[in-house]
Amino acid sequence: MKIFSKKYDLMAFLSPFISEKSIGFVPTMGALHQGHLSLIKRSASENDLTIVSIFVNPTQFNNAEDLQKYPRTLQKDIDLIENFNPNIVIFAPEIQEMYGENVASETFNFNGLDRLMEGASRPGHFDGVGTIVKKLFEIVQPTKAYFGEKDFQQILIIETMVQQFQLPVTIVRCPIVREENGLAMSSRNQRLSATAKKKAGIIFESLQIAKHLFSEKSISEIQTEIELFFSKNPDFQLEYFTIANATTLLPVSEKLPNQTYRGFIAVYVEGVRLIDTMEF
Ligand code: AMP
Repeated sequence: MKIFSKKYDLMAFLSPFISEKSIGFVPTMGALHQGHLSLIKRSASENDLTIVSIFVNPTQFNNAEDLQKYPRTLQKDIDLIENFNPNIVIFAPEIQEMYGENVASETFNFNGLDRLMEGASRPGHFDGVGTIVKKLFEIVQPTKAYFGEKDFQQILIIETMVQQFQLPVTIVRCPIVREENGLAMSSRNQRLSATAKKKAGIIFESLQIAKHLFSEKSISEIQTEIELFFSKNPDFQLEYFTIANATTLLPVSEKLPNQTYRGFIAVYVEGVRLIDTMEF
């Protein structure tokens, strides 16, 4: 199995493939789970070669403690991928390799998409995401890149960046993989106690309730219902719940025909911040 930590080694390895073969790319921050594997599987089925990057990107964290506590399980991740498909190529660089001495974000214009929800709660987050994904795209030069709808706002941000910079890559949206209780799989779930993880199915449940109410109640009534729902589960602190247009991400005031909507939620449990989303 091929594992690279230096960008020029990976680029030298990839150079015979570029423009000859299709390269699929799955960027991750590691602590891999079935959600990541579903992206890797899809990429492997659609491309001659799949590259998975494992890199906890410091510039997308606006909270030092969150960055410090982010799970790092590189050897386990490598073993998991190797057992899953030994033809996958891993790129696991150090911070210095990606940023040199200047660990800073580029500033992007994401047409306001970065000022809502995750962007509002985590200032600078999407500039960090854009910075690292652009750097990685320059190294890997993928034909297709695979992103999970769990981070739906991130997908729209990446699609905007690809358009603005005319990057020759197709972004593939992949569905959310969930635990049996509905909890969206996430590397951050590793930080939860067994009890909290079991109970965290209520996040998915709250989205289902809101989806159901969407056809019969006003947005503010739904908002109130969701706030009430979480006030009855005080170990879960609701940060935001929004119903937004799935293209503009602007919060909706009423449901219009021929539009796609999604519910978006961020919740804290045991000090861990979890997000989820669902098409309404
Ligand atoms: P992360 O390692 O959290 O940065 O995630 C890497 C990629 O995997 C992103 O495109 C995520 O949206 C995607 N991903 C994370 N969790 C899931 C999930 N439960 N289902 C599908 N994709 C996911």
